[in-house]
Amino acid sequence: MSTVRFAALQETLNRSTIKVVENEKRSVLFGKNVFNKYAMQQYLTRAAYESVMNAIEKGTKIDRKIADQVAVSMKDWAISKGATHYTHWFQPLTGATAEKHDAFFESINGSLAMEKFDGEQLVQQEPDASSFPNGGIRNTFEARGFTAWDPTSPAFIYETTLCIPTIFVAYTGEALDNKTPLLRALQAVDTHATAICKYFDKNASKVYATLGWEQEYFLIDDALALSRPDILLTGRTLLGHSSAKGQQLDDHYFGSIPARAMNFMQDLEQECMLLGIPLKTRHNEVAPNQFELAPIYEEANLAVDHNSLLMDVMQKVSRRHRFKVLFHEKPFAGINGSGKHNNWSLSTDDGVNLLSPGKTPMKNLQFLTFFINTIKAVYEYEELLRASVASESNDQRLGSNEAPPSIISVFIGSQLSEVLDELENVTKGKLSPQEKTDLKLNIIGKIPEILLDNTDKNRTSPFAFTGNKFEFRAVGSWTNCAKPMTVLNTIVAKQLKEFKKEVDELIDAKNLKKDEAIFNVLREYIKESKKIRFEGDGYSESWEKEAKKRGLSNNKTTPEALKVKISKKAIALFEEMEVMNKVELEARFEIDIEEYTKRVQIESRVLGDIARNHIIPTAIIYQNTLLENTKNLKEIFGEEYKNIAKEQIELIMIISNHITEINALSVKMIDERRKANKHLALKSAEMYCNNVKPFFEQIRYHCDKLETMVDDNLWPLTKYRELLFTR
Ligand code: ADP
Ligand code: MG
Repeated sequence: MSTVRFAALQETLNRSTIKVVENEKRSVLFGKNVFNKYAMQQYLTRAAYESVMNAIEKGTKIDRKIADQVAVSMKDWAISKGATHYTHWFQPLTGATAEKHDAFFESINGSLAMEKFDGEQLVQQEPDASSFPNGGIRNTFEARGFTAWDPTSPAFIYETTLCIPTIFVAYTGEALDNKTPLLRALQAVDTHATAICKYFDKNASKVYATLGWEQEYFLIDDALALSRPDILLTGRTLLGHSSAKGQQLDDHYFGSIPARAMNFMQDLEQECMLLGIPLKTRHNEVAPNQFELAPIYEEANLAVDHNSLLMDVMQKVSRRHRFKVLFHEKPFAGINGSGKHNNWSLSTDDGVNLLSPGKTPMKNLQFLTFFINTIKAVYEYEELLRASVASESNDQRLGSNEAPPSIISVFIGSQLSEVLDELENVTKGKLSPQEKTDLKLNIIGKIPEILLDNTDKNRTSPFAFTGNKFEFRAVGSWTNCAKPMTVLNTIVAKQLKEFKKEVDELIDAKNLKKDEAIFNVLREYIKESKKIRFEGDGYSESWEKEAKKRGLSNNKTTPEALKVKISKKAIALFEEMEVMNKVELEARFEIDIEEYTKRVQIESRVLGDIARNHIIPTAIIYQNTLLENTKNLKEIFGEEYKNIAKEQIELIMIISNHITEINALSVKMIDERRKANKHLALKSAEMYCNNVKPFFEQIRYHCDKLETMVDDNLWPLTKYRELLFTR
């Protein structure tokens, strides 16, 4: 083993003795560092408290005087917990989170010092944000950006900083972040879902979208990660021969969690508890060193913030444990990648889950209404949903026989399929009393029973109904949940709006009763959206063919997928629902495309670098050893050496061949890169996708072959078996 690798492994093994984290009672820790209802009640005046609660629940404005009061209380609370700084915490279009810390400290006349924080600082800030991606919005409008307090997501203290969740918008109003469109989408779904709820309950007043994400990730020792330039710079391995033992024995999934990883998880969970992130589940995933954690679901905006915060905290905590967390969707070839299932539902403010069947036929009709409308929305906008999770790294996971394909379909299970089949046969127009009774007793009346023993599960479906929620499984582990959540809630809002229009028309024009009208519209929706429903194996080749016949999209690469974001249909949708305008959509498209190009470009450079600076020189050293050996054999044995050194000679030739190929392919790849660099935006991205990326596999093939031939003592890169099995 090479000295570099040996040192890294040695260090890794020494770390098994890292300090054990003390396990504290979670309920005591929960929310301690959050300016939540409880803290607000303690610190705010009654008027201020009510004003903030109204802002959270009804979206009312908080006036300046009250904001001043809130700021002072927030500061006092934060200082009592040891905070020295504050920051507006936001999610620029990089997909990560951003923060700029300012001290509460202020000096007066240079001698007197005090801690200050007022309403103005709480409500609005102007970060010097010229380096955040804006897709040309600011250039076009010569507008500066500002961050503004989002009271619906509570402030929290992380380390010694008070973090205030904010939106980030240009002075001309365009959103420069991921949160603003999400909030608008949540507003849209609230408006249109509440209108539908009123069919069933006149007093319905608010609907929340709920989100429970399941975060998958890999943990790699950081000494080992440091020894791999590819992991360091791209978050994944660009080469590496598969380990003899990978995941084939299925012995990692739900297995006992390795002690060091467990230590990290406990530490992480405690940090998360303090921050009010309600982590609930942790377990090993399928691949070695792969894990998952999931919280109790929350209102979607808060859940999105919590996921972004979690990813940040994970990175910080992992450093204490000398781990590197990999969020990349496909860090290792040949073993499973990581996703982030987004479990989604709608809930009233009384906590009634609208995607959960109820006890009465009327409640079940409400359930069916939301259930069928969601399916219809996914059918109408399947391409947009696919685009919402498109990224360079997620391309490597989608459609690789372990994760849902790039085709979006909906799985609902055989029993609900039967219910929909029956509803499809409901008579057009008015229903006879007999038919109504029949529907109530035999079809919708039976739903709760059916669901209780519904054991149907289909892990290959990208969008599956799982009893009381839909699970969007194509989301990547690195993806900011705001993106898919913005799209999903917008398309459902739009669909519900259409639904209401159609039902009201039938009631007014055809004189139908409300439930008759609802049945009539639902019946048509079931028929129209049938093509999106698929119960079979989503990983199979036959499904690709079948989906094509059905006219479903199959956008396998990010450039292909992203185009949909700026289609006429998408722009019309987002503008109508007041979620994003054309400028905002085009800006996001531009940023996403550019990010794609840059990521492929970086990977290509790193791969070229490793291949030529690490692999080829190593192969040559080994080849020289073989040559030396052959020469020596010839010296001693004369012409007889040809038989004796047969293996060596063959190996020398094979190594030469691989070196030649690696060199030639690298040169061609660089050439393709140059050509792609001459173009802009989509064209450049397409060239990187179609002309540069295909070289990765080819170059890797030869490098990985060399790995199996070259003396292990010489091999410079930490091998898969070491990365995945050393703890
Ligand atoms: P799985 O079989 O996928 O592990 P679970 O029942 O354990 O399913 O739930 C997974 C996730 O779904 C959890 O994060 C949970 O909080 C979330 N979840 C459950 N109900 C809802 C809901 N109504 N809305 C959103 N997320 C939900
Ligand atoms: Mg799941």
